[in-house]
Amino acid sequence: MEDIKKNIEGVRAKISEAAAAAGRDGDEVILVAVSKTRNPEEINTAIDAGITDIGENKVQEIMDKFEDIKPVRWHMIGHLQTNKVKYIIDKVDMIHSVDSIKLAKEINKRAKAKDLVMDILVQINPAEEESKFGVTIDGAGDLVREILDTCENIRIRGLMSVAPIAEDPRDVKPYFDGVKAKYDELAQIDDPKLDFKYLSMGMSHDFAVAIEAGSNLVRVGSAIFGERDYEKYRKEQEAKKNGSIQ
Ligand SMILES: *Cc1c(COP(=O)(O)O)cnc(C)c1O
Repeated sequence: MEDIKKNIEGVRAKISEAAAAAGRDGDEVILVAVSKTRNPEEINTAIDAGITDIGENKVQEIMDKFEDIKPVRWHMIGHLQTNKVKYIIDKVDMIHSVDSIKLAKEINKRAKAKDLVMDILVQINPAEEESKFGVTIDGAGDLVREILDTCENIRIRGLMSVAPIAEDPRDVKPYFDGVKAKYDELAQIDDPKLDFKYLSMGMSHDFAVAIEAGSNLVRVGSAIFGERDYEKYRKEQEAKKNGSIQ
């Protein structure tokens, strides 16, 4: 558990360094601790160490943990199926993974029913990889405008993207630069439901490069919590369920 605190300090130091190299202030960069496969004890340790934002990529994990986590902002960062929006609409503060009008309309419908406005990011797949979700850089504008035309209970706060895996993270900088250019362009749209503030780019292995390209929100998991162990999480959940039946 000590490691988590130390790792957070290390990540923050790297964030400051990368921001300084780009002539910016590290305090402008939001660190979202990606807590998938981590249990509430580990996540609360991170919160005690100053983490204000956590990210999960599965609806089920948000449901599993929600009650046991100290007050924090929740980010849904993974692919979201329309039939699961209803479970998280009043739990998360921002949905990073909007990549279709169908999903946006469902979020809008569920937000309206709860009388809230949901902050979202449009997810871009800059290298157009088959294995990844997201719209193309060229397609982002059309989706943004369609959401603005049809979704009253959504506020578009920016863009999110996951770069290809590369041995040397410098190699993916052009993808980050491409997303940043699109971000700057779309931020100019004059509409009360669009208020660009977040460019969500960068994970454990490439957040420094992403920050240099202009990211102001990084999603960092393994560099904070260590390598993920999906089997361990599954077993913990099973034990928890069995324990609560008696
Ligand atoms: C898991 C995940 C991360 C964090 O990945 P690490 O390499 O562990 O930092 C960031 N973004 C998304 C969308 C993820 O699913």
